[in-house]
Amino acid sequence: MTVTEEKVSERQAREVAEQARESQWRQPSFGKELFLGRLRLDLVHPHPNGSAEAAELGQAFLARLREFCESEVDAAEIERDAQIPDDVVRGLKELGAFGMKIKTEYGGLGLSQVYYNKALALVGSVHPSLGALLSAHQSIGVPQPISMFGTDEQKQTWLPRCTREISAFLLTEPDVGSDPARLHTTATPDGDDYVLNGVKLWTTNGVVADLLVVMAQVPKSEDHRGGITAFVVESDTEGIVVANRNAFMGLRGIENGVTRLTDVRVPAANRIGREGDGLRIALSTLNVGRLSLPATCTGSVKWCLKIAREWSLAREQWGRPIGEHEAVAGKVAFIAATAYGLEAMLELASELADAGRTDIRIEAALAKLYGSEMAWLVADELVQIRGGRGFETAESLAARGERGVPAEQVLRDLRINRIFEGSTEIMHLMIAREAVDAHLAVAGDIIDPQADARSKVRAAAKAGKFYARWLPTLVAGKGQLPTSFTEFGPLAGHLRYAERASRRLARSTFYAMSRWQGRLEHKQRFLGRIVDIGAELFAMTAVCVRAQRDRADGNAIELADAFCHQARVRAEQRFDQLWQNSDDSDQTLARGVLDGRYTWLEEGILDPSIEGPWIAHDGGAAKQDVHRVIR
Ligand SMILES: Cc1cc2nc3c(=O)[nH]c(=O)nc-3n(C[C@H](O)[C@H](O)[C@H](O)COP(=O)(O)OP(=O)(O)OC[C@H]3O[C@@H](n4cnc5c(N)ncnc54)[C@H](O)[C@@H]3O)c2cc1C
Repeated sequence: MTVTEEKVSERQAREVAEQARESQWRQPSFGKELFLGRLRLDLVHPHPNGSAEAAELGQAFLARLREFCESEVDAAEIERDAQIPDDVVRGLKELGAFGMKIKTEYGGLGLSQVYYNKALALVGSVHPSLGALLSAHQSIGVPQPISMFGTDEQKQTWLPRCTREISAFLLTEPDVGSDPARLHTTATPDGDDYVLNGVKLWTTNGVVADLLVVMAQVPKSEDHRGGITAFVVESDTEGIVVANRNAFMGLRGIENGVTRLTDVRVPAANRIGREGDGLRIALSTLNVGRLSLPATCTGSVKWCLKIAREWSLAREQWGRPIGEHEAVAGKVAFIAATAYGLEAMLELASELADAGRTDIRIEAALAKLYGSEMAWLVADELVQIRGGRGFETAESLAARGERGVPAEQVLRDLRINRIFEGSTEIMHLMIAREAVDAHLAVAGDIIDPQADARSKVRAAAKAGKFYARWLPTLVAGKGQLPTSFTEFGPLAGHLRYAERASRRLARSTFYAMSRWQGRLEHKQRFLGRIVDIGAELFAMTAVCVRAQRDRADGNAIELADAFCHQARVRAEQRFDQLWQNSDDSDQTLARGVLDGRYTWLEEGILDPSIEGPWIAHDGGAAKQDVHRVIR
């Protein structure tokens, strides 16, 4: 049987994901407590704020970056040529933008997470491909895993280079997307080296990268623990070919490729961590690295707000500026409130990351999930407000003498955020896994179909004790007292709602656990709604805490209040859908569709797809090497 024919069972896939998961909670977590019915405001309020020095350093860099973007970057050129000009890349290197998060002792700028994210939001608002270039290098490329898991020697070797060179992260393969258990690239030990073979797909920065992080499977043997392992690889090593530069719906400026590795020799000194630690390293890197996507989404949403405001005033139809018609006003209000909400969520999660006192993996994951979904809705509403001009390209608008507003481009550019660095469906499952972790810990063997009777009895006794203590705490709480959270003034009612809703969320999860037991993990849409409600509650909390910090500045409270009203409506809809939905009948229908029962419905059309297999396991026909170096 060839590797491509191998079947990876659902259980194997889950086991690999489970092994990579960080199962320990060494620090308190606002997100984890929220899903257990405890709104631990003390963990996030008063709003953490970084030091004055960090702010000074960050502000000074943002000013330089802004000036550079204003004077040197032509966003229309990036879009037209589908490439970031080499001069822009060089300019960003000179500014230090490739080493924003690298410590100063290694030649980096040593920015805080807060200012790194602000910088991504700024460059991302100019052209999202710039945000992708910098974040693929710094959030998932070589600097982050080496900073977190590298030896002193590795840090000395790689980090100074990473301040001026480009790196990429190579996990995905033609057959490996959300499911890393299928990883086929191998790293075979040979003396002091490993020899890598495989094909990597969709490598952001891969076409122009100097350094790569490659995930490969080390075969288990007597002297080798084996398993998925991370390596730093020089991109000019013999045997590496970039076989294609891929083109997408959006992010037209990214240099994303197909990278083939044939007998690529990598010294063992380039291995990050131990054999078998690769996925855990990738996931831990992403715990914080994931914040870069909501950062660029926030930048885009703030730009959407600016355009929505200016256009809704300028455009008059039916006797009034369109922003005064209620249907459009609702969209403007949604965009404004969401811009405030996303920024609040991002800022809080980033400040928590800098403070380092809490575990922020759930908050960062919620920010990624929520930021990418909400930014997409915002961009769609902006296109609608712009009417026909929303559908027209900026270049075409400019060619006929109007302002070249790239609304359709922002919609295209934002779409990928719901897919990469954890698709929405996978984020739902990942966060839900953490949300039900406490239940699994106590009830694991009761619901595990593989567990024997004795284990089940033991687990039942343990669960009994846990639930006897926990369930009564879900009955009453601060949210029922009209005097609670009064220091938040007009926002107190929203925090009381969040507290009540958090307990309701935990009760709903418990009911679901009792009802479906081990089958709960297959109730993906139910779990998705639980997570979405959690995201709304985290966003509301972040908004209230931020507005309270900024109350002296004037009208932040109004925005926070508006956001909370909208978030409550969305949360209530999700609560209703937990128990009133078409999930079961949809499941039956989908089965029928997949079984081909309704193919007659597809008659009367033509399929313009270009012929080819669904998946080219070998990465497609060999072409010339399209790798290029930007010096
Ligand atoms: C522009 C771009 C840039 C990228 N950059 C990089 C990069 O730099 N490095 C890198 O390694 N990768 C990169 N990727 C890959 C990206 O991370 C993957 O596309 C992503 O992980 C999803 O994998 P997939 O596309 O194979 O989808 P699949 O895993 O095939 O999923 C297809 C669909 O099924 C859903 N699905 C899958 N499994 C489940 C499940 N168990 N339950 C419910 N739903 C499920 C998914 O959510 C999705 O909707 C990039 C991709 C693109 C398009």
